[in-house]
Amino acid sequence: MNSGNLYIVPTPIGNLADFTARAQSVLQSVQAIAAEDTRHSRVLLNHYGITTPMFALHEHNEREKADALVARLQAGDDIALISDAGTPLISDPGYPLVRACRAAGIRIIALPGPCAAIAALSASGLPTDKFLFCGFLPAKQHARIQALEAVMAESATLVFYEAPRRIVDSLAALEEVFGAAREMVLAREISKQFETYLAGSIANVRAQVQADANQQRGEMVLVIAGAEKQQDSLPIEAVQLLGLLHEELPPKKAAKIVATHYGLRVNDLYRYGLELDK
Ligand code: SAM
Repeated sequence: MNSGNLYIVPTPIGNLADFTARAQSVLQSVQAIAAEDTRHSRVLLNHYGITTPMFALHEHNEREKADALVARLQAGDDIALISDAGTPLISDPGYPLVRACRAAGIRIIALPGPCAAIAALSASGLPTDKFLFCGFLPAKQHARIQALEAVMAESATLVFYEAPRRIVDSLAALEEVFGAAREMVLAREISKQFETYLAGSIANVRAQVQADANQQRGEMVLVIAGAEKQQDSLPIEAVQLLGLLHEELPPKKAAKIVATHYGLRVNDLYRYGLELDK
């Protein structure tokens, strides 16, 4: 018997009209739908008259269920994977199942469709030729700063998801690590009634968000310009000392010593040190 197919089916991130005709027809025709939250998705499927049986596949059970689902696919059933909104696996469940299907040689068919990160990036006006999707920032301040420091030297455009209750703290952390002047765009409530894009320097967007409680509500994506290459503007002696210290010390420590000695910005030297590692 032929194996069935695993379909990865994006669902709307706000505007119901973004539910493609193909997504609807696949969901109607498969034997079962694996949904992140069946009660949540039932509302969408009822709206479109889709009656296919659903079962829950979420972050707490997806590892243990993957093998049984592969067996079901091998037995010939077609299964569709959906999440609460947008594209499954993009900061959403599904990775263990897709990985297991790939290993088992199951055919995986991904339907193109809504994804907040891609929509925000495409409208941001920031470079799209190279980007790094970073998912959600950690909730705790120390871990958040560390996560930002890990990508501060990255020249690709950076894309983060963020929760409204954390946006004020995250913008402060962004300003602390990337500096006030770096360009960014805050994309809020994409495809919904209160869709808003705030564009400007990090300091400017932060000021707008702090001044208006409405900008702290809803769903949001942060798109941040990548780092500019700074090496050329650093004095040659500083670069040489950094090169020497870099071989003996962690990058941050080396950057701090050189910055203090030459009166330079720690971040510029740290970024340069990370480039040395590449
Ligand atoms: N898989 C989804 C996708 O393809 O975009 C993302 C799921 S993730 C759990 C949810 C996060 O995506 C939200 O916290 C927010 O950062 C972002 N998001 C989802 N819908 C959005 C929208 N309509 N506008 C802005 N951001 C959105």
